[in-house]
Amino acid sequence: MAYHDELKVALSAVGNAAALCRNVGTALSDIPLIQKEDRSPVTLADFGSQALIGMELHNAFPDVPVVGEEASENLKNHPALSQKVVDLVNRGNRKLTLSQVLEAIDIGACEPDYTTRFWTLDPIDGTKGFLRGNQYAVALALIENGSVVLGVLGCPNFPAHPQSNASDKGCLLYAVQGEGAWMKDLGDDIDASPISVDNIKDGRTARFCESFESAHASHDVHQKISSVLGITNPPLRLDSQVKYAAIARGDASIYFRLPRQKDYLEKIWDHAAGAIIVEEAGGMVTDFSGEPIDFSAGKRLRNNRGIIATNGHLHRKVLDAISHVG
Ligand code: AMP
Ligand code: MG
Repeated sequence: MAYHDELKVALSAVGNAAALCRNVGTALSDIPLIQKEDRSPVTLADFGSQALIGMELHNAFPDVPVVGEEASENLKNHPALSQKVVDLVNRGNRKLTLSQVLEAIDIGACEPDYTTRFWTLDPIDGTKGFLRGNQYAVALALIENGSVVLGVLGCPNFPAHPQSNASDKGCLLYAVQGEGAWMKDLGDDIDASPISVDNIKDGRTARFCESFESAHASHDVHQKISSVLGITNPPLRLDSQVKYAAIARGDASIYFRLPRQKDYLEKIWDHAAGAIIVEEAGGMVTDFSGEPIDFSAGKRLRNNRGIIATNGHLHRKVLDAISHVG
C-alpha cells in the first residue's frame, strides 16, 4: 500500500490521542478549559492530544511540518491548566517536563510552504461537542501539492456498529489516495473493513447532515436547499468531522456547510481528513460552486466558499439546488 509508513504512524498517533481524550471525557463538567482569542473553547485534552500526535509525527518524520490548531502560547498565563496537561500526557507512562510538553504542542505550530508536503491536525475537532459529551474527532491528514493524500479520523463517541453491544468503543476511519476508505473499532487490533457511501439517487429518500452548532453553519439556508431537493428526513446534526464519517459509511447522503458569517473562511484541519475519507468511500467533496477544495492556500480555505460532501450520486442535484436557491 502507498504511504504505508505514514499511515502506520498516523493510525497509532490518532489512536493514542483518542484514548487520551476518552480518559478525560469521564467527568465532563470538571474539564479544565480556557477561551481562545476567537472565544472558542480549548481544553487540556486539545493540548494533550496535539502534544502526543506532534511527538509521534516528529519522531517518525522529522522533516515533514505539522500545522495544528493549537499553540502553547494560549497556555502561557495558565499555570494550573499547564500542569494538568502535563499530568494528562504523562498518564501514558511518560515522564515529560512542562517545557517538553509545550515544545511538543508547538511541533504543530509550523508555517510551512503550503504548496508542498505537510501534516494538518485538529487534536479535537468539535471541542464544543466534546464538552457536551456528544460527537468530536481527532483529525489528522497529510497534504501534498494542495491535495489530501492520507486522512485519519478517530471518533471516540461514534460507534462503528451502533447496534452491537460493543458500541461504547467509537470508531477509527482512514483513507489513502487511491486505496479506498476503511473503518474499525477504536482501540482494537482487528483489521479494518472497507466502507462506502450510500447508493441514494433521489433526494426524497436522502438524509443530510450539518453542524450541531447553529453559529457554525446556516441551518436556514441548508433547509431551503434540502426542500428544493425534496428531502423530508430531519437533518442529522453532528459536531466535528464525524459528519464526513457519517457520509463515508452511508449513515447520511449529504453534508452541507455554508458559513453563517459571509466572510468566514474554513480551516484546513476541519476538512482535510474527512474529505479524503468521503472521496475514497466513493463520494464527492466540493465547495458551493462545485470547485474542488484547495488545500494549498494556507491555514484557511481561501479559495473556497461553503462545503458540500455527498455520496456522489446526488452531487449534481445538490449543486443545481444551490443555484436555484441562489
Ligand atoms: P462543527 O462541529 O462541524 O460545527 O465544526 C467545528 C469547527 O467549526 C471548529 O473546529 C471551528 O474551527 C469551526 N468554527 C468555529 N467558528 C465557526 C464559524 N463561525 N463558522 C464556521 N465554522 C466555525
Ligand atoms: Mg479543534
